[in-house]
Amino acid sequence: MEFKELQIIEPILKALKTKEYEDPTPIQTESIPILLQGKDILGSAQTGTGKTAAFAIPILQNLYLEKQKQKSPRVIKALVLAPTRELALQINDNFVEYGRNIDIKTTVIYGGVNQSKQIKILNQGIDILIATPGRLLDLIQQKKLTLAKVSILVLDEADRMLDMGFIKDVKKIIAMIPKERQTMLFSATMPKAIMSLANEILNEPVRVQVTPEEATIDKILQSLYLVEKKRKLDLLIHLLSNKDMKSVLVFSRTKHGANKIAKHLIQSGIRSEAIHGNKSQGARQEALFQFKAKNLRVLVATDIAARGIDIDELSHVVNFDLPDVAETYIHRMGRTGRAGLGGFVISFCSEEETKLLQDIQRHIKMNIPVVKDSVYSKVFDNVDYQKKPQSYSKKPQPSYNSHKKSSASHPKPKNYSKYDNRNSKPKK
Ligand code: AMP
Repeated sequence: MEFKELQIIEPILKALKTKEYEDPTPIQTESIPILLQGKDILGSAQTGTGKTAAFAIPILQNLYLEKQKQKSPRVIKALVLAPTRELALQINDNFVEYGRNIDIKTTVIYGGVNQSKQIKILNQGIDILIATPGRLLDLIQQKKLTLAKVSILVLDEADRMLDMGFIKDVKKIIAMIPKERQTMLFSATMPKAIMSLANEILNEPVRVQVTPEEATIDKILQSLYLVEKKRKLDLLIHLLSNKDMKSVLVFSRTKHGANKIAKHLIQSGIRSEAIHGNKSQGARQEALFQFKAKNLRVLVATDIAARGIDIDELSHVVNFDLPDVAETYIHRMGRTGRAGLGGFVISFCSEEETKLLQDIQRHIKMNIPVVKDSVYSKVFDNVDYQKKPQSYSKKPQPSYNSHKKSSASHPKPKNYSKYDNRNSKPKK
């Protein structure tokens, strides 16, 4: 399937060519025709599947064609709500890139920074607004903008908005938008609260489901170190002596922990930065920018700060701390293996975390292969989680079905076969 078969107009096709997208991803193939027809959609998809383009392309195209038919003043016609500033910025970048050859204006508003620059841009007139809920409500209350002419609404990462306590704000915002509209709701998971929101706000939606989770697991190589808590920092520094770890996102459970890890890495001569909720928006963006530009090898983040980060060719994710919620493991893993690329996830598990490990393994329905021959490896007594996975391939050949022209090269670790888990399932 090619993009032009999806009836995408020439100026947008040209922009996609500039982005070096060759073919649409599955969610794009499924969603674009439905959305071009103006239908509502309920999409189960997470970041990394190409879902932003799946909704951005039809929105841009429909607004552009509408404008061709009838010239009208520039007012906000499409609103995209996203849970975090980073994700909102990323979505905005996508809209700007795909819409570069058409006269549709997009901007983004989010909290944590001075509002005056955002208001100035809004006053110049825009067609598409990307926003985090808090700042949007704030500016509406100040009468700096209105949603009275919005005819397209997107809720992105709805489950994350729920987790972050935004659902009330989101409902308030939706109540301000005309009922006559096209609505799109995307969520990685579909808990009850999201399903009931979907029932409330969507009109006969088409259900689109991509299952990146299993697909992603297929291409990502996971490994696990059982390690004493106090030795985790040394283990991380040891692992980072491998220069194949080119672009590494390290997850810490706490903000304080993230700072501590970054500080130790810097002391050991490894360039790193921490991002979390206590850092200013400017500092977070700068760190992200440097990381994306590959000037910064290691970024240490808490889950909320890392949510939605889209970095091309991120080689490794390190779970310095295991997440409290098993599902978060999948989200973290999704930071690598983007758009079908492979990647590596290395997890550290201390004795205190073995229960979390069990939850994760149950959730992902497989055992994560344990690295046993490292000087840092420990054997914990309470281990029923060490069951040997059913099979390891001897010669793993990850198929990096990149959608992109230039696929990233993902170095194989030396003891690669030991990490290969693609066929492993937990024993009953
Ligand atoms: P998303 O799920 O929207 O966060 O997209 C994940 C990544 O895939 C981003 O870096 C996009 O630029 C990229 N991407 C989206 N669609 C395509 C495509 N059709 N071909 C190649 N890359 C894509």
